[in-house]
Amino acid sequence: MKNFAIETDADGIATITWDMPGKSMNVIDITVMDEFEKLVAEIEADEEIKGVVLTSGKSTFGAGADLTMLQDMLAKFEAEKARDADAAMQMLFDNAYRLNLLLRRVEAGDKPWVAAINGTALGGCFEMALACHGRVMSEDEKATVGLPEVKVGLLPGGGGTQRVARLVNPQDAVTMLLQGKAHRAAKAKQLGLVHEVVPAGDVIAKAKEMLKGGLKPKAPWDERGFRAPLNIWSPDGMQMLAAGNAIMRKETYANYPNATNIMKCVYEGMQVPFDTALKIESRYFANTIQSPEAAAMIRSLFINMQELNKGARRPDVPKRELNKIGVIGAGFMGAGIAYVTAKAGMEVVLIDRDQDAADKGKDWSRETLDKAIKRKHSTEEKRDALLAKIEATTDYGKLSDCDLVIEAVFEDKGVKADVTKQVDAASSGTMIFASNTSTIPIGELAEASKNADNFIGIHFFSPVDKMMLVEIIMAEKTGDDALALAIDYVTKIKKTPIVVNDTRGFYVNRAVIRYMQEAWSMLIEGVPVPMIDNLARAAGMPVGPLTLNDAVALDLSQKVMKQTLADLGEEEALKVLDKRHIDLIDTMVEHGRVGKKAGKGWYDYNPKPVGAKLWPDLKTIHTQQDADAIDHQEIEDRFLYTIALEAVRCFEEGVVTDIREADVGAILGFGFAPFTGGPLSFIDGIGVEAFTARANDLASRHGEHFSPPALLVEMAKNGETFYGRFSHEEQKQAA
Ligand code: NAD
Repeated sequence: MKNFAIETDADGIATITWDMPGKSMNVIDITVMDEFEKLVAEIEADEEIKGVVLTSGKSTFGAGADLTMLQDMLAKFEAEKARDADAAMQMLFDNAYRLNLLLRRVEAGDKPWVAAINGTALGGCFEMALACHGRVMSEDEKATVGLPEVKVGLLPGGGGTQRVARLVNPQDAVTMLLQGKAHRAAKAKQLGLVHEVVPAGDVIAKAKEMLKGGLKPKAPWDERGFRAPLNIWSPDGMQMLAAGNAIMRKETYANYPNATNIMKCVYEGMQVPFDTALKIESRYFANTIQSPEAAAMIRSLFINMQELNKGARRPDVPKRELNKIGVIGAGFMGAGIAYVTAKAGMEVVLIDRDQDAADKGKDWSRETLDKAIKRKHSTEEKRDALLAKIEATTDYGKLSDCDLVIEAVFEDKGVKADVTKQVDAASSGTMIFASNTSTIPIGELAEASKNADNFIGIHFFSPVDKMMLVEIIMAEKTGDDALALAIDYVTKIKKTPIVVNDTRGFYVNRAVIRYMQEAWSMLIEGVPVPMIDNLARAAGMPVGPLTLNDAVALDLSQKVMKQTLADLGEEEALKVLDKRHIDLIDTMVEHGRVGKKAGKGWYDYNPKPVGAKLWPDLKTIHTQQDADAIDHQEIEDRFLYTIALEAVRCFEEGVVTDIREADVGAILGFGFAPFTGGPLSFIDGIGVEAFTARANDLASRHGEHFSPPALLVEMAKNGETFYGRFSHEEQKQAA
């Protein structure tokens, strides 16, 4: 066998070690299914074997199903559907049901199995463990177990919805299935997901001990008189399902068919015997995988994101080691950049104007880790080791052996030019210099540099430790070495890089400002204020535009608009800005409503339990229309269309050159309705022709910014899609 090794000891305990060759993590693909099936049959037939330990030869247990296998399965289904729809449905169901049957065979067999979960076990791999009669988990803080399928538009299809709902209390079970959150060992044990927690090195020994202790080969639900924690016929059960449905609806606005199907699996599955329940789950799995949402999410949030994370856009130049990074400016962003860099194992020289400011930036790491220690997510040793990597100083001389220096000083061209010159003076010559500016074109900043070839933009989003996207900006003169090093750095800190060309606002901010501008227009038109954020969320955005605007700060919006006016002159600037918006934001700032940082913006930020409430005096600057006269669909469309159109313009202008980056960047950067797969996938999903027609329709009522760009008009005429015309294989061929 390629993927599994089996060894039976003197006590008749067979240890199966899963270790896929050439992969960093185990995943379930067809070869794994075939071999596992053969193994199960061998074990059943071998009388010497009394019990089984299932473990992994990697540092983790397993990552889940190979989603490319699911894509292939779906492609076969589509091909067969054209020939014989019934046969295609049967084939899809049989494929989905196969894993359930196989794992049930393990569970209902007459030999006890124990999963020795030596590291993280997710999705289908955790479902394999759940089908075992005993589960021993490593206590390592990095080890987690969970069912993240919901995050890529799917549902756990290897019995996860049924076994979790029968093991865990109803509320935690449904939350776990719907949020896809993974749990560390202590929590997993408390929830009843695992039986024993031991140091990583002891999982196999403990598993053997369970077997020798007489573990019965019987799942709780196969015992007579089993009572599940969720009895849907009880008053508690009914209440919990009603509340669960309401919460799911509030969180998803019914945009995610997989979430609805997860609830159906639990509700229907709990009413029937276990084998029937598994069949129900497989039916919903087969239904879910056919949804456009699943296809779009798998493509953008799994396949494409993984490709970008592996450096798909990296030019083919020799790799340089990244050992030491300089960070200039130890403020809000610089402190975060120093933290994530040290966390990834690199040395950091953190510079500010004076020692106090530099120390304060380093203290941010200390405070962050102290909080993590309190929550038992880190240890004092780890904190001290990370802090030892950050040297807070004012001495530019310390930068001489840095591979990369990132500046995050004030957003001021003069200050940045000054810093660039000081770094140049300390530089070895091969050092790459990156700016974290959010608004100043990189080409303009590069003018201060001795070596524009080595000058690049590395644009983080705040908060740096949480946001997974980093935009890398190429100025006209930026060279391949700088790009390769920037991509290597971003992947080393485990974030997703997208590479964009130099323009005002780059890609993400250019797209997201459209979102806020549309909200400002709605306010000015008199759309009732609560409807603005609520309908944006109904459209699929995780954060409403006014809430987002408060988080970013209104005075920053004001500053960016004023800067654009100053830089472009009124005539040019007013092509991308709206005078009414400038007046609106000026009025808000005059009222001191600058956003969350001041406790007041579009919302008043009251202490808990009251929380955020819309500013009641908004009515003094805004006349409200009758709420019943508002067309909800029109409001929702305006939000998604204005962003999608800006994404098309960025692509047409060559600011973004890869459709994968346009989609992944918008989802990770500001949460563009994830179920669509991103703005270009959204357009493909609607159909370019239908999208273009609707955009024209919106333009007739809401302004020129809805007019479809020439590229769209041409694609609509030719019946093309973005992923049909610009998919990266074709891009490669074209190149
Ligand atoms: P900040 O004011 O919190 O921090 C700036 C730091 O730079 C301060 O500690 C200041 O003392 C230091 N500094 C100023 N001049 C210096 C000099 N000559 N030498 C050394 N240190 C100097 O600002 P911030 O929010 O961290 O923003 C920094 C940069 O990051 C800006 O270019 C900003 O546009 C960009 N950015 C900010 C965000 C955000 O959300 N705040 C997001 C992306 C990018």
